[in-house]
Amino acid sequence: MEQDLTTDLCVLQRHLDGMLDRVQQNSLTLKRLQSFEMRMLGVNSLVELIEFILEESKTLFDLDIVSLTLLDPKNEVADYLSGDHYRYATRPGLLLLKDEQIFKTLFMFSGRPLLGAYQPASHQCFFASLPSPPASVVLAPVIRRGRFLGSVNFGSLKPERFLHSMGTDFIEHLASVIGVCLENILNFETMRRTSLVDPLTGVNNRRFLEQRIEEELDRSVRNREALSCLFLDIDFFKRINDGHGHQAGDHVLVTVAGSIKKQLRSNDVLARYGGEEFVALLSQSDENISADVAERIRATVERLRITVDERGIPATLSIGIATFKPEQSSGRKAAAELAKELIQAADEALYRAKNNGRNRVENHGLIDDAAAAVTVAVQS
Ligand code: GH3
Ligand code: MG
Ligand code: MG
Repeated sequence: MEQDLTTDLCVLQRHLDGMLDRVQQNSLTLKRLQSFEMRMLGVNSLVELIEFILEESKTLFDLDIVSLTLLDPKNEVADYLSGDHYRYATRPGLLLLKDEQIFKTLFMFSGRPLLGAYQPASHQCFFASLPSPPASVVLAPVIRRGRFLGSVNFGSLKPERFLHSMGTDFIEHLASVIGVCLENILNFETMRRTSLVDPLTGVNNRRFLEQRIEEELDRSVRNREALSCLFLDIDFFKRINDGHGHQAGDHVLVTVAGSIKKQLRSNDVLARYGGEEFVALLSQSDENISADVAERIRATVERLRITVDERGIPATLSIGIATFKPEQSSGRKAAAELAKELIQAADEALYRAKNNGRNRVENHGLIDDAAAAVTVAVQS
């Protein structure tokens, strides 16, 4: 009898210990979740948010694999990320999808997370860019105002880590906070860009250029890479307006801007500097590369067949180039000073292109050129 009672007590004690363990475990998970969310709410850009989700959740929740899928039907996310020099296409774990069909197929019925064994046929695309496939997974849809924004996907190499029978409260909570953060940051990125975009041509405006040029110069110094600036101006644009009307002039502006943009790489900067003037910043481009690019732009614009009311409007560009090369500079000037010098030098070269007959490219060469400064000092 006494023996039975002792056994019962032992069983009860073990049961209680088990419950206490689970409560402590849950409380720890909750604390980690809160800390994760608080820090996630403080991120300042889409790039930061993506990196935070991919890296921090791995450490914090002790996961082998994390991936993030973002729905990007209009290429906005890709544009934002490449604008920030983020290599989204080769970032392991990040996937941008144009079509929401896969989310509809997977989450259609419940809109709730899926837990269980890894099934290559339906899960592989979420983990494809990662080195080894998981054994068990959680796929949590990120939904905001009834729309799929993407999914956050956790994987473990242990088959028993995520079981179909487990509760999904924590992960559902996490996915909805990620949804709020993602929506917020996407709105912020859109606003940041629209205030920096020229409404007529759709390229960036002068304000954007002024912010970006110093960042580009800093990057150029850091990476020891040349940075070139092109100053582009449509020739005799006033005549186009006078001869064909202001609206036709607008059409020429839009077409020429689009054509310039097409000749540039996605991470080059193009801004409308003023009326019919544009400035382009070409990273990793010295005076020779940028001369080739400028010549290609000039020739392409010359060949454009722009028509308004079936009347052809020929348009040409004059282009001035200036280049900054960190290894050949004095290294004494601040980015703001260099920025001013770079634009001014390209503008002066443009002036020469105008004086030398228009529809041509003139190259100023290097700005803040330490070698040139030494030569001048020796001569004088
Ligand atoms: P140049 O070859 O020396 O550059 O001559 P240009 O006629 O192109 O230069 P100018 O500076 O004399 O004239 C620029 C014209 O661009 C004057 C202005 O009315 C026109 N312009 C500025 N902004 C706009 C715009 O948004 N739309 C249109 N249609 N015209 C514009
Ligand atoms: Mg002009
Ligand atoms: Mg002008």
